[in-house]
Amino acid sequence: MHRLYENDDITIFWDSDKCRHAKVCVHQSPKVFEKDRRQWADPYAAPTAQIWNTVSQCPSGALTCVYNHDIKVIFDEKRQCSLALEGDGEVGECCYENDGTAWTIVHTGVLPDHEGRGIAKRLVYKVTEEAEKRKMKVIPVCSYAKKVLEG
Ligand code: SF4
Repeated sequence: MHRLYENDDITIFWDSDKCRHAKVCVHQSPKVFEKDRRQWADPYAAPTAQIWNTVSQCPSGALTCVYNHDIKVIFDEKRQCSLALEGDGEVGECCYENDGTAWTIVHTGVLPDHEGRGIAKRLVYKVTEEAEKRKMKVIPVCSYAKKVLEG
């Protein structure tokens, strides 16, 4: 399972396949990471610096995070993609094809001057999270999505 949790400053990624349940996160930031809560991570429940510090100590790499750099990531079901927006301008996208049982991620791209900020990972996670919520299989064909989801 792939999930992303965003506050105004950062995006936290969680990959349940990598989670070793060492519970470092739960012990260090219990208000943020609460294992029995429906949405188990609440990125507004502690200062960003504390969350960042906790995430960086996850021993398995299941939790990671990036700064948002004022870029918003949204999901556009009609266009079959997630979009990265800077103001009203699109600076990145992750697109998929839907055959009714699986979403095949065919393209992930970010404008060259916006690379290196974790935007592509946010885009891939956004599509994957939406697919998983709909019980759709995700097939990453684009090389970047493959690296994020299978690496
Ligand atoms: S610290 Fe990392 S490995 Fe441990 S429970 Fe939290 S997410 Fe899982």
